[in-house]
Amino acid sequence: MRSLYLKFVVITIGIMLVSSMLAFLVSNVYYQHKIKPLNDQKNTVIAQDIASFIEENRGVDLQHYLENISSIGYQIYLVDSSGNEYHFGAPFRDKSLPVLTKEYVLKGNIYHGMLQFPTSTFVTGFFANELKNTIGVQMEYKGQNYGLFIRPDINLLFNEMHYLFSWILIISITLSIVMVLFSTKYLVKPISNLTKATQALAMGQFNVDLKVTRHDELGELTDSFLKMSKQLEQMDDVRKEFISNISHDIQSPLSNIKGYTNLLENDSICHEERSKYISIINGEIARLSILTKQLLLLASLDRNEDILEKKTFNLGNQIKELVHHYQWAINEKGIMLSYSLPDIELNGDPSLLNTVWDNLLSNAIKYNKPSGSIDISLEDKGKFVSITFEDTGIGMKETELNRIFDRFYRADLARTRTVEGTGLGLSIVGTIVKLHGGQIIVNSKEAIGSTFIVEIPVR
Ligand code: ADP
Repeated sequence: MRSLYLKFVVITIGIMLVSSMLAFLVSNVYYQHKIKPLNDQKNTVIAQDIASFIEENRGVDLQHYLENISSIGYQIYLVDSSGNEYHFGAPFRDKSLPVLTKEYVLKGNIYHGMLQFPTSTFVTGFFANELKNTIGVQMEYKGQNYGLFIRPDINLLFNEMHYLFSWILIISITLSIVMVLFSTKYLVKPISNLTKATQALAMGQFNVDLKVTRHDELGELTDSFLKMSKQLEQMDDVRKEFISNISHDIQSPLSNIKGYTNLLENDSICHEERSKYISIINGEIARLSILTKQLLLLASLDRNEDILEKKTFNLGNQIKELVHHYQWAINEKGIMLSYSLPDIELNGDPSLLNTVWDNLLSNAIKYNKPSGSIDISLEDKGKFVSITFEDTGIGMKETELNRIFDRFYRADLARTRTVEGTGLGLSIVGTIVKLHGGQIIVNSKEAIGSTFIVEIPVR
């Protein structure tokens, strides 16, 4: 049984069969212990009533009277002490009755054939049309001793009910099976649809056509699947864009290098031009070197989250050293730099965090206006330390702000084209800050400046 549909149908019908068998067994126990004695008792009273009526009304025509009784729904067997037998009403299917039983009744005892009827016949014993399944009482009529055996004529009394209950049973079984077949289809269909969608997804088709029409667990599963396929599609787009960006960013310096080395092969170029080309080639090599270093760093940040080598260090000093390192570039651009960097200790990865400050400070210098200003401040805010880099640079548009942490994203090229960059710096910054459990808040206004606030939790 490989299909879920078939399994479901077989299991449900199996459960229906087992539960009806159990219900039959339980109702049988109830019949044997409760209904059977009651039935026996009821019919004993009726048999005794018939016998005492005959005894009290000596003038009654016995045959006529018993025929009447049988016509209202009883099967009657009469035997006298000489062994003469008489039957009234519908005949018994099994007419055998031990001689001892007849004698036992003729002696004045009551025969409880209904109560003693074997339990192995289950509840169906109630319907057994046998002479043994009767109540026998002794009576006298016109000086003669008789044994009177009676049982209700089930066929006469319950025939219509028989048909009714049989029809109810047949219709309910048929309807249940039909409903199980349909309801199972309803239950299993979304799973089959999901399976098809999963197979399509595995083949790279992200546009899954699935409708969420249910609000149960299967609806939730379909909904989660749709979300997952959307995320996978986005990740696939990012991957493709990433590869095309890398290819472009590697290809363009390489073709520049190739172009300028070809020019250098020409012996007729002057010394000045030669050194200009060499400096361009060196610039492109440096760019490639930065790009590959950044890519390697991103790859290792992506690969494992335990990359952090944490230790406690003086954050203020670290940023001061960095400022010192950039002093020349700051002076060259005529930028005014101010800072407030108190001695604050932080537990984190000093080398990776240095990369964060390095990127933020170099961006603040790169995207600053000539004679602009930069302000760096460090504050202990209790649960976290806050590091702010504020510049009066070119700033960014609202739409650009949302994308600056994306890999290879560089804002409006018209404004930044004069500035060297790979578009990887801030995505590295974002990843490192995230690995430290921190966050970055960016405020920026076009042509006014930008503020990057990094918050790193102390613990
Ligand atoms: P890049 O190598 O281009 O500097 P980053 O990832 O560091 O790459 O920055 C992404 C983009 O965000 C930059 O290209 C620039 O457009 C914008 N940006 C980053 N820092 C600043 C800033 N301080 N002022 C204005 N724009 C900035």
